[in-house]
Amino acid sequence: MTDSRIDLKSLTQAELSELLTDRGFPKYRAKQVMDWLQKGAVSADEMTNLPADLKNFIQNYCYISVSIIEKKLISRYDKTVKYLFSFADGECVEAVVMCYRHGYSICISTQVGCKMGCTFCATGKSGFSRSLTASEMIAQIEAAQRDLHVRISNVVLMGMGEPLDNFENVVRFLQLVTSEQSLNIGARHITLSTCGIVPKIDELAAYHIPINLAVSLHAPNDEIRSRTMPVAKAYPMEELLRACRDYFAATGRRVTFEYALIAGVNDSDRCAYELAEKLKGMGCHVNLIPVNAVEGTHYTKSSVKRQQSFVKILAGRGIAATVRRTLGSDINASCGQLRRNHINFKKEDE
Ligand code: SAH
Ligand code: SF4
Repeated sequence: MTDSRIDLKSLTQAELSELLTDRGFPKYRAKQVMDWLQKGAVSADEMTNLPADLKNFIQNYCYISVSIIEKKLISRYDKTVKYLFSFADGECVEAVVMCYRHGYSICISTQVGCKMGCTFCATGKSGFSRSLTASEMIAQIEAAQRDLHVRISNVVLMGMGEPLDNFENVVRFLQLVTSEQSLNIGARHITLSTCGIVPKIDELAAYHIPINLAVSLHAPNDEIRSRTMPVAKAYPMEELLRACRDYFAATGRRVTFEYALIAGVNDSDRCAYELAEKLKGMGCHVNLIPVNAVEGTHYTKSSVKRQQSFVKILAGRGIAATVRRTLGSDINASCGQLRRNHINFKKEDE
């Protein structure tokens, strides 16, 4: 959000400390403010142990990001919950909380919309509004935790937006969310999904944050890939796979490839053989997702028979592959659709 005030929740404790000491406040005040923020304070008024001059400073020169629940859908089949959150400027994003055997996992958004224009994606079809700040990413996790009264232990950056197109804020978010002063979620419990912006994957690897990388591949070669993913024209698959190998070498984290199976587009046996050949020796995992039908596109899911044949070919060539279990299939309707419907709904209202 463009706001000339200081975004308090996007600051690390060291930065907050510097900000306050520069203005003449003692260092321990930063820890007090941080504690309040962690407890969910949304204004300086709530920070009862702060002196009036510090409260005034916060009120006049800073702001605290919050996300408001605009809509909440609960799956009838499992415990999946989908939220539509709004921020101070009225922009909305989606987040989904899933319950697994090992705990709660949240899929958060990193941008309002997306510039990448993948033809099968509801978010891509809605265009781009703006990137989220680190605090707005944190706020999605906090709001869900507060609403559900649970601790979320896993985070996936797989909601709306392309995380590596919002690099600085996403890295800041990763640094904050893994820190003890914030949500203290281990890097190994965080997954970032990207459509494959090669130079940014390299840049991320250089940070050596051991998060999991998921790469949306969706095709075995550039020709098929560029039919659905414009980013493929900028970064050929060969370079993308090189960046993935380097990412593994730098972080020790295996890369997962996302592959949405679209009937008649990328789901032939030939595609499976070619994919297996390209990924040979990479020690990766392939997540096959039957494509979600999105309004305004003509794509349909591959048949179960096709899905099974695809997995079998990959497995036969030593590539670990699974067809993703769709949680909350009644409410999921693929990323970006809830917001899209919400906007349409608002337009009808006006
Ligand atoms: N921009 C990032 C992360 C957000 S999209 C990326 O593209 O990876 C999260 C995942 O959902 C990606 O793997 C994306 O390809 C996939 N996806 C988008 N629309 C889909 C649809 N209609 N059906 C199945 N998967 C879809
Ligand atoms: Fe953006 Fe990812 Fe959707 Fe592509 S799939 S348009 S990169 S959100």
